[in-house]
Amino acid sequence: MTDLPSHASVPAHASIVVIGGGVMGCSTLYHLARDGVADAVLVERNQLTSGTTWHSAGQVRALRSSRNLTNLVKYSASLYAALGQETGQQTGWINKGSISIATSPERVTHVRRQEALAHLHGLRAEWIGPDEAAERWPLMRTDDVIGAVWSPDDGRVSPSDLCAALVKGAKARGARIFEETGVTAILTKDGRIRGVETTRGTIRCDAIALCTGLWSRAAAALAGAVAPVWPCEHFYLLTRPIEGISGNLPTLGDHNGQLYIRDDSGGLLVGCFEPGARAIPPEMIGQIKPFQLLAEDWDHFEPMMINALHRLPALATAEVKMLLNGPESFTPDGTFLLGETAETRGLFLGCGMNSVGVATGGGGGMALAHWICHGHPPADMGEAEPNRFPDCFNSVEALAARAPEELGRHYDIAYPGRQMTSARNLRRLPLQDKWEAERAHFGQFYGWERPLYFHKAAEPELTFGRPAWFGPVGSEVEQAHSGAALFDQSSFGKIEVEGRDAERFLNRVCANDMTRAPGRAIYTAMLNPRGGYESDVTVLRIRDDLYRIYTGSAAIRRDLGWLRRHMDGERVTLRDATEEFATIGLMGPEAARIATEVGAGNLNDLGYFRLGESEIAGAHLRAVRLSYVGEAGWEITCKAPNAGRIYDALYAAGARPAGLYAQTSMRIEKGYRAIGHELDSDVTPLEAGLEFAVAWDSDFIGREALERRRDEGVKSRIVTILLDDIDAVPLGNEPVYASDGASDGSGGRIVGRTTSAAFGYRVGRPVALAAIDAGLDEGAPVAIDIARQPFAGRVTLEPAFDPTGARMRKATGARP
Ligand SMILES: Cc1cc2nc3c(=O)[nH]c(=O)nc-3n(C[C@H](O)[C@H](O)[C@H](O)COP(=O)(O)OP(=O)(O)OC[C@H]3O[C@@H](n4cnc5c(N)ncnc54)[C@H](O)[C@@H]3O)c2cc1C
Repeated sequence: MTDLPSHASVPAHASIVVIGGGVMGCSTLYHLARDGVADAVLVERNQLTSGTTWHSAGQVRALRSSRNLTNLVKYSASLYAALGQETGQQTGWINKGSISIATSPERVTHVRRQEALAHLHGLRAEWIGPDEAAERWPLMRTDDVIGAVWSPDDGRVSPSDLCAALVKGAKARGARIFEETGVTAILTKDGRIRGVETTRGTIRCDAIALCTGLWSRAAAALAGAVAPVWPCEHFYLLTRPIEGISGNLPTLGDHNGQLYIRDDSGGLLVGCFEPGARAIPPEMIGQIKPFQLLAEDWDHFEPMMINALHRLPALATAEVKMLLNGPESFTPDGTFLLGETAETRGLFLGCGMNSVGVATGGGGGMALAHWICHGHPPADMGEAEPNRFPDCFNSVEALAARAPEELGRHYDIAYPGRQMTSARNLRRLPLQDKWEAERAHFGQFYGWERPLYFHKAAEPELTFGRPAWFGPVGSEVEQAHSGAALFDQSSFGKIEVEGRDAERFLNRVCANDMTRAPGRAIYTAMLNPRGGYESDVTVLRIRDDLYRIYTGSAAIRRDLGWLRRHMDGERVTLRDATEEFATIGLMGPEAARIATEVGAGNLNDLGYFRLGESEIAGAHLRAVRLSYVGEAGWEITCKAPNAGRIYDALYAAGARPAGLYAQTSMRIEKGYRAIGHELDSDVTPLEAGLEFAVAWDSDFIGREALERRRDEGVKSRIVTILLDDIDAVPLGNEPVYASDGASDGSGGRIVGRTTSAAFGYRVGRPVALAAIDAGLDEGAPVAIDIARQPFAGRVTLEPAFDPTGARMRKATGARP
């Protein structure tokens, strides 16, 4: 596919350089050209597709966890179907659908939840019985199949033909491609991309799309950026033609057997996501040659072969063509990296494709090109946010441990509360010893281990029903509701903004009025120019020239990048103080007594959203009177090494720890919105019902867009849904139907989706927050589709618990 003679030199300047000629690079180049970038250049150090792309199985399965990621694959499918006609180069697109079989009751729930999700995301999906599954896949053994989900929109493509078509389409619009051209350095100045040095010379440029597949960690490091991506061995078996296969069949997913199976040139292709997968050793990564495969390993594949023989007895007599073992890259959470890095302006990642690079490539390249050209993605890409990992996840040890686990769990049943077991304990919270002593069950967040609940008796068995932690979490909620509970909030990001222009700067990047006296807390949003949430934060004004922003754990890197980018000559410094401080939430009706007992009774004088200083056990602290759980109390921040002393004093006075599950249940009951659930970069404070935190007369980023949206009126809004059946277990991300279609879900009208859900212990029933059509009013009957079963509930526009906030606002009473 060589594009140019070997002596050709690269241009001195190109507005955008794409590095890497796999499916991500080719698609990004095509879309840049289609978006009107006439001088885009792609550099590939070997030949196009010679990395992972050429040996991909080419499956295109549309359903993803979110609507926007699903839309990327839907877009891919329509592009792959159309490119042949546009370019004259066929892509090999075959739309034969897919079947996911269920061979255990829990797998039935999983696939039926996926069926419901497919409907939510506008895909066709239908439950079929074993007989119909057998009709669609005659070679399949079905005596243990309970049923299956049939997804007619899925398909497959020929990866090399696809790239050839993308490249043809790109070149026709003026893009240029240089093979045998490796990038050896990335040039930056003042935190911005300035160019690349290649083996054929330097190209000055304004932006780079880094589509370097499994080599992306090293490539990003050339620009001082972080791309936590690691390759693993990835297998599929190919047979020669066998009897019983004629024409093309749907792709068969037997996920309890960790398999996907399809026809291939009259034979079979049997691919797997095997437990016990293997990372590629660090020293090998640089040595992988173009079009290189890794060694066949039949011992390793044997358990998968046994599963495949069980499902397809005809395989026993098939002649094996090859056991293909190719490298593919994975990220620590199984989702790819897409977007601009926080560290380097103009450096855009499109990598770490977690074995869905061909399916996502079309839409992923489109989104990346859109982002580069327009400064933002076509729709929120929160799950793929490239800045969502802490540095500790970029280590060789962490990545080489986590990547194979991600591969091996690709087909896991998505039980709520599922935890990864590798690369744990990467960083410790200041109170981790205490939490271990209290037998906490931990979940990993931004590398930290946060207590989910306490007094774990045994490793919890996972289920879609009422979870093993239902009782312990209920006790913790009760502790916060009638006594006093301690919540660990130390992993919240703490970003200090200091300097004489701090107020002016924050008034521009925050939507609320930041001109408040020191000692005040301010709840605010950082909005993008479209009025959508970049971040949802609480800010303390500590001094005239010092603010401390409290943000979500996973938002630290992103928020720092956002703030840095929006400085406009103001004299301020930004500092990540997250690890310097610990934050403990002391919440509940006993909090006031406890504060007095430990010598911090002055905190009782604080008004709501006011900040004060005090001392507990001889340690200085700052406390702000507010509540994320709806009970009266403070969030107490102290120097991290002093947290243990303060905790001991509060514990001795009667406070007891409560975990994140209790906090989340209480948050949902209170209707508090959270980033990644109710809020994202497409949602404005108007849909979120948070206009009260907008200072309309202030000149903040996003105001004009917000004003326009206000004038037009919103189409959806966040509401609370209380379910009638107290045994229902909504998890979030379920379709919400108008009640007229609630009987079976199929004929009804989807009016929205749940964004967060939990059992509400204080209201005694399951409660969900949902983004639904703005037309549905107080009391509207709806049904939540949980694994294709409708559960009736009612819309309420107020929080489920203590709608007026009286409990948390009332005078604490410990002092007259
Ligand atoms: C066995 C197997 C089966 C798979 N099956 C499927 C499937 O069914 N469906 C699906 O969607 N996905 C599948 N995948 C995954 C899919 O193939 C990958 O996600 C996808 O090909 C990754 O594309 P990419 O462009 O990110 O990376 P690559 O194709 O690896 O391209 C990266 C390119 O960057 C170049 N490069 C790196 N560093 C530099 C540098 N410094 N300068 C210049 N160039 C550089 C490399 O040479 C390489 O060509 C499969 C993968 C494997 C291994």
